[in-house]
Amino acid sequence: MPQTPNHSAAQSTSLDREPTPQIDGHPVHNLILASAYEQEQSLLRPFIRFVTSDKGENLYAPGEKIEFGYFPNAGLVSIVVNTVQGGTIEVGVVGKEGFIGLPILFGLYSSPHCAVIQVPPGEGFRIKAADLQNILRQSPDLETRLYRYSFLQGLIVAQIAACHRLHEVDQRLARWLLMSQDRLGSNFISLTQEFLAEMLGASRPTVTLAAGILQRSGAIQYTRGKVTILDRQLLEQAACECYGVIRNLSKDLGL
Ligand SMILES: [Zn+2]
Repeated sequence: MPQTPNHSAAQSTSLDREPTPQIDGHPVHNLILASAYEQEQSLLRPFIRFVTSDKGENLYAPGEKIEFGYFPNAGLVSIVVNTVQGGTIEVGVVGKEGFIGLPILFGLYSSPHCAVIQVPPGEGFRIKAADLQNILRQSPDLETRLYRYSFLQGLIVAQIAACHRLHEVDQRLARWLLMSQDRLGSNFISLTQEFLAEMLGASRPTVTLAAGILQRSGAIQYTRGKVTILDRQLLEQAACECYGVIRNLSKDLGL
């Protein structure tokens, strides 16, 4: 079994005590990459590049070929469904715990969903699909971790789908803010009312009402373009049960 100083990062905070690995001249905060064995990181280094993306930029979109895998290093990426009628709703959120481009793990190169940079900074490590596939053939442990992430992400997407149908907007907003805080590691989340409405599949006035409920409870402060989480415990009390389910799944992802 190859040795690595940081392979236990997904299970503990040992990452904090070990030197932060670097790829393409940048520290690796993505938990999948950071927990890779050194020899796996060595295989990746010649093929992986640090990239920055603007807010609103698509990493992939329906009908387009998925050419790259992407390991987010900071910020948040939303997996979004756009309907023919013009509706938009978020079915997945991915941060430093995850990977964008799951279809290429299975030899597929398209998705009916959109992966869009939603909360800046849009920073991550990008690798061509074919290069990643070649490396995974030589890296069964990394491949297993990506498959494991894929399965857990599928469970989270299913929970979010149920949440959208069964729970109130203020509960869903609290759940979304908690998920975002876990992934960003910050109490400050930069977002617009329009963005929140699209993510929650609700109208802007409805989102305003929901944010008002959370603000009056003392859980958050909501000003134009920014949410500050003031009291996480109150926010957890305001969220539906879905957050607890997702948090337990997220622990297996190292969050
Ligand atoms: Zn829910």
